Amino acid sequence: MSYEDLAANFEEVSPGLSSTEAIEEANRCLYCYDAPCIQACPTGIDIPAFIKKIASGNLRGSAKTIMLANPVGASCARVCPTEELCEGACVLNHATKPIMIGSLQRYATDWAIQNQQQLFKQGKKNGKSIAIVGGGPAGLSAARELALLGYEVTIFEAEEKAGGLNMYGIVSFRLPQSVSYWEVKQIESLDVEIRTNTRVGTDVPVEELLMNYDSTLLSIGMANVPDLEIDGEELDGVYDAIDFVKETKIKPISDWLVGKKVVVIGAGNTAIDAATCSVRMGAENVKIVYRRTIEEMSAYDFEYEFAKQDGVEFRWLTTPSKVFGNEKGQVTGLECIKMTLGEPDKDGRRRPVQIGGSEFILDVDVVIKAIGQSRYIELIEQFKIAHDGGVVNINPDTYQTSNEKVFACGDVIFGKGQGEAMVVSAAQQGKESAYAMHKILSPVMETV
Ligand code: SF4
Repeated sequence: MSYEDLAANFEEVSPGLSSTEAIEEANRCLYCYDAPCIQACPTGIDIPAFIKKIASGNLRGSAKTIMLANPVGASCARVCPTEELCEGACVLNHATKPIMIGSLQRYATDWAIQNQQQLFKQGKKNGKSIAIVGGGPAGLSAARELALLGYEVTIFEAEEKAGGLNMYGIVSFRLPQSVSYWEVKQIESLDVEIRTNTRVGTDVPVEELLMNYDSTLLSIGMANVPDLEIDGEELDGVYDAIDFVKETKIKPISDWLVGKKVVVIGAGNTAIDAATCSVRMGAENVKIVYRRTIEEMSAYDFEYEFAKQDGVEFRWLTTPSKVFGNEKGQVTGLECIKMTLGEPDKDGRRRPVQIGGSEFILDVDVVIKAIGQSRYIELIEQFKIAHDGGVVNINPDTYQTSNEKVFACGDVIFGKGQGEAMVVSAAQQGKESAYAMHKILSPVMETV
């Protein structure tokens, strides 16, 4: 397989709607009063309004309606589980088929990207400043709202580019970096300063933020995949799924995986991304190994279908117990144990229990760990705020942490045992935390 073929595998899967298809689809919408699709969108996008603007040819207005409600609405058009949200609530589910809301959202925002539209203007400066730690969907969303309200906003971003999960964590054949880049530029052009390659707690002391800004928002997301805690984990050929996917987004696709046998451990959306990336990098066989069943899998249904179409095999009720290697320290096999489900544990999911004597070995060259993400506990502790194993405690009405000058939103407040937070929920939390900060920092709440 040539480099060109491998690179082509990472081009966006769906071409998007043509203008004829988009207008036809927009004209199917009933523009419902009290539209249930709006209620089902975590960011409350006025869906009938943006669809109507597509039908009337007002694409800038349409994109503005979307992005006003959701500052990362171009990314969400591609990655939202729409069948569980807006499209699942569309009244046309009862008659024919739901409106393709996600595709129409993509059509309008793609137009804005291609036509380099700047959709918003910064608000009149109010003399107050906010530091945002972490430039992922939650931090960007908060930054946009605060900039519109006139705050001097600085985002501190550890990576080379802001965008977080959208920039680095979702495979480019579903979300190209250019989409997230445009969203970041929209926010940066509102006079939001984004200090990239800057780690708070290392490059910038936490005390400096607390002293120099009126408030700080912690939207640091989550860290890398934790250890499997099994023998052989240190061998050459065992990878972290977050790093693995990130490499495919920032480096040219190479041929090192061609003909290899890959096992991905875990069944969340990141596991699916790692598995489908492996297929597209030319792996001969890709298996997902998960200790529970399809019922408990946290990946979205459409992600699961996508992986099956790519030929990914699923081994349910299976957990890894040992990685084997050769004399050069390279992975050659993965010992697994069959599981059964026992009583529910405290998060309500039935606990997997090993079946004694059921060990078997899979012939494998590469093992990719995708068993969730650890948390930036050290940084949270530098802020001296209350947390529960890395989940920051907040007042749900104000988003304030135990330090009233420090607010938090996004994955860092998302509870354990609930899978992964949706990008769209993080965006909404970013907005809500911005309004909460504004309410506290300004004596009179302005219109938001
Ligand atoms: Fe249009 Fe469906 Fe929303 Fe009604 S529920 S406004 S038909 S998208």
